[in-house]
Amino acid sequence: MQDKLPQNSHSLDIEETIDLLETDQAQGLNSIQVKERIARFGFNELTGKKGKPWWLKFLLQYNQPLLYILLIAGATKAIIGEFVNAFVIWGVTTTNAIIGYVQESKAEGAIAALAKSITTEATVIRENQKLRIPSRELVPGDVVLLTSGDKVPADLRLIKVRNLQVDESALTGESVAVEKEAGVETPPLPPDIPLAERKNMAYTGGFVTFGQATGIVVATGNTTETGRISQLLENKIDLSTPLTRKFDKFSKNWLYMVLGVATLTLMAGLQTKPWRDAIEATVALIVGSIPEGLPAVVTVTLAIGVSRMARRHAIIRKLPAVETLGSATVICSDKTGTLTENQMTVQAIYAGGHQYAVTGVGYSPEGEIVQDGKRIDLSGDLGLHECLSAGLLCNDSHLETKNGKWVVVGDPTEGALITSANKLGLIKPLLEQQMPRLDGIPFESEFQYMATLHATPTGKTIYVKGSVEAIAKRCTFMLNSNGQLKPIDCQETLNTSSIEREVNIMARQGLRVLALAKKLVPNEQTTVDHVDIDTGLIFLGLQGMIDPPRESAMKAVKACQEAGIQVKMITGDHAVTAQAIATRMGINKNGSVLAFSGAELAQMDYQELAQVAEDGVVFARVAPEQKLRLVEALQSKGEIVAMTGDGVNDAPALKQADIGIAMGMAGTEVAKEAADMLLTDDNFASIKAAVEEGRAVYKNLVKAMCFILPVNGGESMTILFSTLVGRELPILSLQILWLNVINSITMTVPLAFEPKPQNVMQQSPRRPNEALLSGSRIKRILAISLFNWIVIFGVFEYIRQTTGDINLARTMAINALIAGRIFYLLSLSQLVPNLIAKMDGTIKENVDIPAIGFGIIGAIILQLCFSYVPLINEFFFTVPLRFDQWLFCFAVGLPMIPWAAFVNRFDPPN
Ligand code: ADP
Ligand code: MG
Repeated sequence: MQDKLPQNSHSLDIEETIDLLETDQAQGLNSIQVKERIARFGFNELTGKKGKPWWLKFLLQYNQPLLYILLIAGATKAIIGEFVNAFVIWGVTTTNAIIGYVQESKAEGAIAALAKSITTEATVIRENQKLRIPSRELVPGDVVLLTSGDKVPADLRLIKVRNLQVDESALTGESVAVEKEAGVETPPLPPDIPLAERKNMAYTGGFVTFGQATGIVVATGNTTETGRISQLLENKIDLSTPLTRKFDKFSKNWLYMVLGVATLTLMAGLQTKPWRDAIEATVALIVGSIPEGLPAVVTVTLAIGVSRMARRHAIIRKLPAVETLGSATVICSDKTGTLTENQMTVQAIYAGGHQYAVTGVGYSPEGEIVQDGKRIDLSGDLGLHECLSAGLLCNDSHLETKNGKWVVVGDPTEGALITSANKLGLIKPLLEQQMPRLDGIPFESEFQYMATLHATPTGKTIYVKGSVEAIAKRCTFMLNSNGQLKPIDCQETLNTSSIEREVNIMARQGLRVLALAKKLVPNEQTTVDHVDIDTGLIFLGLQGMIDPPRESAMKAVKACQEAGIQVKMITGDHAVTAQAIATRMGINKNGSVLAFSGAELAQMDYQELAQVAEDGVVFARVAPEQKLRLVEALQSKGEIVAMTGDGVNDAPALKQADIGIAMGMAGTEVAKEAADMLLTDDNFASIKAAVEEGRAVYKNLVKAMCFILPVNGGESMTILFSTLVGRELPILSLQILWLNVINSITMTVPLAFEPKPQNVMQQSPRRPNEALLSGSRIKRILAISLFNWIVIFGVFEYIRQTTGDINLARTMAINALIAGRIFYLLSLSQLVPNLIAKMDGTIKENVDIPAIGFGIIGAIILQLCFSYVPLINEFFFTVPLRFDQWLFCFAVGLPMIPWAAFVNRFDPPN
């Protein structure tokens, strides 16, 4: 193959493209070619332009209004000649920026790594075999099959197209999906035609919204059209969330307050002190009222939430979801595969006017088909034979044995149909040899059926399978047990209602029912289209399959309902089946399991729909656009909605939902792209886990604020009061920075690692518009601030009076404050209650001591340095303490225990 990839492939004809790329449209490439091409063209991945350089990211850490004032405060110190002071202030803000930078990079790295772990796959033909491979391994010349829901994995010259529509908005900005056209008959396009009009091409990053196609890879990685654009774009990860935005707003308002109080301090200071001291008091107040360590703590807490969720199979794609999850009030979940196992086994058949039972479990062919206790074999009933054959032929899946176990490759629903036919002795490859498939329409939820055209010894036949609603109305005949046709007259309701009756018998047991039919067509016919099966089908029978609920999902449903979160089942399946399963799983609202079908929803006006969305529990035969309406209806009632989806058409609903959840395994690329979160195991239980973690994250954030702010409160009160009454400052600006940055971060970051409280799922969801700081929380912060003020002011004045050593008085005031702070931290943490519960035996799991323990030990070591390291003594004006002085500080901190216990009574921390 030539070294250069073909340019303007849309203007080449198909033969030319194939020749240039030395490939084979039927066989695909072979493994030697693939190896050689990977070596030559590299992997099919985009290496986007690097993000902002590290130094810019670092500088941006300073881009916060509160930090500006600190920089100015430092500058003021420099201007009046206090250079040490100035440098320490700048030094500490730099430390803060470094911590912020490191935390932010870590969080970004973690999210980027998660995003990378979500690999997209493509279907290719290689060495005459259809394979699923990671899109990354595609090479030029590969023959790729596209189907609706796929993301176009590389730039493709299309060679065969069936009703293909591709959403190329990412590339062209055109939001309507474009219809593609290609094939041997369609001539190549002129070379200069714009990208959006190249109907015989599919470009990387497009989404197949409809239809199927085959194409040849003409460009991969950075040589694709998207690659050219994305090299200009930056790979940016957004770390902002509603909460961080609330924080930003909060800090702007805070800024004005700080400036106001600072002016007051300056004026008061100038009345009572020399001007130098007045400036020091003002700087100290500014520094003291700013919670410098808080932004770093917020980022860490969110990042830890993300990684905890990932461990529990929920991958966050958009950071705000971490918070929103905690306030979810409704979870709308798919049934098949999420609430249930998606392990289908046919248990009942209705064919030729007779009912049959099927024995056996799973996909193993062991089991029998019995009628009235009699085993049926191949020689028996013709109606049954045809019904099972239809299930086998109209089928894209196959069974394999893996470690002695039978598994489906493909759709479990189809796997079940293979197994049931095997039990009668029908074998798929043999039957396919007798009746080769000529064409097919694959299953799509939208149509609820699949059809295939076969050449049979007796003529051409279309086999169809799908939902009863989709099939029964198209049937004009049914097959009896002797293989004879009997008319189904729509007027003569007896027959159709007999089908309906049989469906209901199966559905009420929770069985998923598939209807099977066929149509004999003229010999000239070589393709099958939707119109071909509009009428005149021959009804062959029903197969009812069981799909057991997931144990873990059942538990999770219960936990969610106890946590005040409604669970609703949204499914394409039959209403009666869905209702039976919902009942079995304990999904209900106030004890009742109201079910509505898509057809019913379609009749309703907006008001009615909103009410039904609230009251209903099961929504069956729901079309994807109705999912969107349901989400909107629930939101209009003030609900915070989490919604799962996997199909092509689920994207709008996933985007509209407050938390869009895509299935990592069964989901299409379109759904994954639209979602806020992915489930790696497709299990409902993982949604519950994510909600639980989301609630815990929020609690930990609030705790961090409750921990940090009272120190700022105490410091500000101290400085303001001492200035007003004209006393010496009990604490200097540099010492305040030590407290607010070094000490705060050491002691607060461990809060982010706190395990979730035992009772998180016993409380009702947090109101989404809840203020960051509720009334009782503000009271808490004031109460602890007051304590802190008394400690600083009291210790300072007392030691100052008794010893006359001002540096000793300040050092001891700070150490006493930190002693109190340690007790306060313990009162917020889970550690003590958990240890007590552990001793009682109420909880069995290991209690996480490390994080908080390390925080406290770290803080103590830092305080020892603060008091004993000579250089620090010099910078921070501290002095070494004697043992009895340490004891004194400790004793002063002790009353925090009863005080915090009192505060916890009116504002429980968990
Ligand atoms: P869900 O995933 O919510 O159970 P689907 O949209 O997959 O719903 O399926 C809807 C209906 O379409 C099913 O109840 C069944 O009757 C029919 N169906 C499902 N899978 C297939 C298939 N592979 N071929 C034909 N019909 C199918
Ligand atoms: Mg499905």
